Amino acid sequence: MSSLTDFTMHELHELLVRREVSAVEVTKAYLDRIDGVDPKVGAYLTLTPDQALDQAEKADRCLARKVEDATPLTGIPVGIKDVICTRGVRTTCGSRMLENFVPPYNATVIERLEAHGAVMLGKLNMDEFAMGSSTENSAFHPTHNPWDLERIPGGSSGGSAASVAARTCACSLGSDTGGSIRQPASHCGVVGMKPTYGRVSRYGLVAFASSLDQIGSLTRDVTDCALLLNVISGYDPRDSTSIPRDVPDYTLSLIPGLKGCTIGIPREYFISGLDPEVERSVRDAISALESQGARVEEVSLPHTDYAVAAYYIIAPAEASSNLSRYDGVKYGLRVRGFKDLTDMYKKARSQGFGPEVKRRIMIGTYSLSAGYYDAYYKKASQVRTLIMQDFRNAFEKCDVIAAPVAPTTAFRLGEKTGDPLQMYLSDIFTIPVNLAGIPGISVPCGLSRDGLPIGLQLMAGHFGEERLLTAAYNLELVLGPWKNWPTV
Ligand code: GLN
Repeated sequence: MSSLTDFTMHELHELLVRREVSAVEVTKAYLDRIDGVDPKVGAYLTLTPDQALDQAEKADRCLARKVEDATPLTGIPVGIKDVICTRGVRTTCGSRMLENFVPPYNATVIERLEAHGAVMLGKLNMDEFAMGSSTENSAFHPTHNPWDLERIPGGSSGGSAASVAARTCACSLGSDTGGSIRQPASHCGVVGMKPTYGRVSRYGLVAFASSLDQIGSLTRDVTDCALLLNVISGYDPRDSTSIPRDVPDYTLSLIPGLKGCTIGIPREYFISGLDPEVERSVRDAISALESQGARVEEVSLPHTDYAVAAYYIIAPAEASSNLSRYDGVKYGLRVRGFKDLTDMYKKARSQGFGPEVKRRIMIGTYSLSAGYYDAYYKKASQVRTLIMQDFRNAFEKCDVIAAPVAPTTAFRLGEKTGDPLQMYLSDIFTIPVNLAGIPGISVPCGLSRDGLPIGLQLMAGHFGEERLLTAAYNLELVLGPWKNWPTV
């Protein structure tokens, strides 16, 4: 018999509505597992057991009163990336700068989860201000990959991916600016969805790079992904980039068969540097999609080569502006012992931010400065337009694009910390999706010889989430969900 923490969200929902278990029992099972497992994994920064038990009791009251009022999230324990504001619960962004920041309000996604009866277990570790690909940039502690504790879980939503894989939450929310949901999902063997820019409200998401940031989900399977997307999607007048467009029932996209679907394979994503084991697994997954009736066609995204360079101008430029609010007055660390105002700013920012954040602020400030703006920011924005055009052209020939998520499986802790450029290059296949604002999903497609998960990335045009879910669901039908989650 599997333990309660092994079930997917939709399996738990069945047990809850049949009253075979209570939400309090489920929550206690998760809190116990966190106690036993999280000291090894390090996915959580803050635990909220009292609040979780209150929410679970409330869910049980709802289930007892009128079971039809229960939603697929009623009584489901979730974890939240610590970049999403939670009223009364510390939200650190993985930074000393916000170590004691307690938001006075909830992000819209948190309000939606609460309205649907979800139970929040706590806040999850991340690279500081979501800058990084390994969660080693957290100011507090690294997170370990549950499949191999010597390895990174990916990043920046490393805690969100590791906790879902370690079964210390049933699902989680993350954010994705250049790959931060899809890459850790791939490294931890979970399903990670970055929705279309504007699909999910970012009100209450601490900003990194505003033209790229998007909140999304990390789940154990594709059905859970559709269920969570149903809840978090939709227009929000409090986010000016949110798009007023109806939210379909995403579970209606979970249908077997891919007849009439053309899958594009981008030539530029199968390059030297791509680990042969990753390539084999991704190509096998594409064959699996073919076996479900999809047609496969080669496509070209000719400007892919320039995506990382353009991203590392645009994202730091926006970050340098967004992070200027942390001055120790309105927000951020207030240091002791300063001579004057300038000295206070200097001390707050040099003690509050870690090295990667400082590097980004310097790159961003430089590339926006007078005389350099045209050469850097403007040029990068033009490259971004070419990348969008590449996708538009490709989607005239296909419905979904399939590619690797990351060039390798999870690397070892410490392996890339000394070389930022190597770290940046690990995002080569995920960044173009953010530059174009389109949706992308990472679905587990196999294990390497070392037993490390490999993800298939699927991409679609704007608001093509339904197509992504159909394709991802069909992959799961052929491969089956994981039979053995990692034993931690
Ligand atoms: N790894 C990328 C970076 O460091 C992407 C991060 C993200 O998506 N938040 O910027």
